[in-house]
Amino acid sequence: MKNNPSRTTPGIETVLRGIPASPGVSIGRVHLLIPERVVVAPHKIAPAEVPSELEKFDQAIAETRTAIEGSRERALAIAGIAAGKIFDAHMMILEDVVFQEQVRSRVEHEQFSVEYIVNDILGQNIEIMQKQQGEMFRERASDISDIRQRLLRFLRGEGDMIPHSFDEPVILVAPDLSPTDTLHIDRRHIQGIATDMGGLTSHTAILARSLDIPAVVGLGQLSARVRDGDSIILNGNSGKVILHSSEATLQEYRGKQERYQSFQTALGNLKDLPAATTDGHEIHLWGNIELPFEAESVLTHGGGGVGLFRSEFLFLTRDTVPSEDDQYDTYDKAAEIMAPRPIVIRTFDLGGDKLHGSINIKQERNPFLGYRAIRVSLSRRDLFRTQLRAILRASRRGNVRVMFPFISGMEELREAKMVLAETAADLERERIPYDLALQVGIMVELPSAVMIADLLAAECDFLSIGTNDLIQYSVAADRGNEAVAGYYRSFHPGVLRMIQVTVKAAHKLKKPVAICGEFGGNPVATPLLVGLGIDEISTNSTNIPEIKKIIRTLSFDECKKITAKAMRFCTAAEISDYLTGELKKRLADLPIWFS
Ligand code: PEP
Ligand code: MG
Repeated sequence: MKNNPSRTTPGIETVLRGIPASPGVSIGRVHLLIPERVVVAPHKIAPAEVPSELEKFDQAIAETRTAIEGSRERALAIAGIAAGKIFDAHMMILEDVVFQEQVRSRVEHEQFSVEYIVNDILGQNIEIMQKQQGEMFRERASDISDIRQRLLRFLRGEGDMIPHSFDEPVILVAPDLSPTDTLHIDRRHIQGIATDMGGLTSHTAILARSLDIPAVVGLGQLSARVRDGDSIILNGNSGKVILHSSEATLQEYRGKQERYQSFQTALGNLKDLPAATTDGHEIHLWGNIELPFEAESVLTHGGGGVGLFRSEFLFLTRDTVPSEDDQYDTYDKAAEIMAPRPIVIRTFDLGGDKLHGSINIKQERNPFLGYRAIRVSLSRRDLFRTQLRAILRASRRGNVRVMFPFISGMEELREAKMVLAETAADLERERIPYDLALQVGIMVELPSAVMIADLLAAECDFLSIGTNDLIQYSVAADRGNEAVAGYYRSFHPGVLRMIQVTVKAAHKLKKPVAICGEFGGNPVATPLLVGLGIDEISTNSTNIPEIKKIIRTLSFDECKKITAKAMRFCTAAEISDYLTGELKKRLADLPIWFS
């Protein structure tokens, strides 16, 4: 959203609207972070100095590589996979052979200092990216500028970027924050982040959410309108930033902040309580994870198990196929953290948009309708058996379950179960212990699976609805394509009926049904999912407290009534409006209403 700078008058309350990137309300003083303009004078070198300049370059590349690796590990450890991937992209830019060759060749032929050449090449790249339309290019420009800063510091012998430190709490305001800056922020002293640039999926937004710092991005020219020490209000729930607030506004936001914080504290107090309705109907409220240590977060947020361990992320943290022992260590670690609570390991869901160099998946014209998930596993038996061996070994603790993704028909389920049985027989021969009662489930994420949910449920122990895919395959709208985002309707009555059909079919056979797509983390959907009879909701751990609060506020009877009415509406908007209204009536203080 663009804001007009001329409208800001000192002393007059001004509301800027940006993109709400990370929830929470902050009131505080501005600390401006304006990046210094990088200027490197063209410094001629003598021909005899060329070799030592090139050596300097190699050394700086090596040091930058180590620094990026460090950031990547920190990002993975404190902010998760998505944050780690930002630094994978940095590594690719740094290791780009064309870039490195260009630097070497220009130093040799033009005989300027390597610092000047590096700055010149990367500076030109940044400019090209900045001229393009779209967030992807802007992010790329900020990645390159981050690397340029690191590389130049190492070339000058200044060491790695020094994290900003603050003596007192501040709201950081910047045109844009580099991933490295955001990552090294001292969380205790940052009350909020507000940037001129960025969108919902920008690096700043991803990192701020992971670090739990309220943030608003895409504010236009905020950094040009404020000075260090100015007092501002930042609402990460609504995307508003207020300058020169009146006393009345300040009071209003102090109230909002207090309510928001006390609600968060109240949510924290629910940690050890069951996700049961007021009339005692209990839902299993579990967490989704991608790395084993995230299981800790499921526990701290009060999750009763892990309903989806996306094991393919093992591939995304390395260049090679993970070995059986590597996999075993990973699964076992997560199972140990959760024990005795259950953990559902989904076998690799590679393909689609999750490609990996070590597995020869060809570029496909339609990857989401192509060679993906269980299809890859069934045709790469070596991979599948290795994974199943690792899962079976980890199952000896008794709390592991296995789940097959992307099942379109009975054939895949039977074949996958056969490979599992063969692998288990191998372990038995080798006298390696595993859980003989290991539960086997499938993901229901294709309409064909919904239509034969009764048949599938008869041959497995549980079903888990993957709404992320089920929606995209039902309404034919790519889940990652912004152009058709308006068609990707979670509350589409067709989607809701699919959930209903699945639950009814499975319950006839007394098999439980979970939901593990993003829809399960949407508070507005909670009464409906409970009313439809869903037995388990597995969602990102940070959603767990809010969903638990909703479940504990409503009765099962009430949920069924709300659901019956919701299912009579014809459009997604009518359904979600109705559900929003019902929820607001009962829970006025949910974080989602803080705008
Ligand atoms: C889903 O499709 O809803 C799901 C949980 O799987 P993924 O998002 O990993 O495809
Ligand atoms: Mg899926």
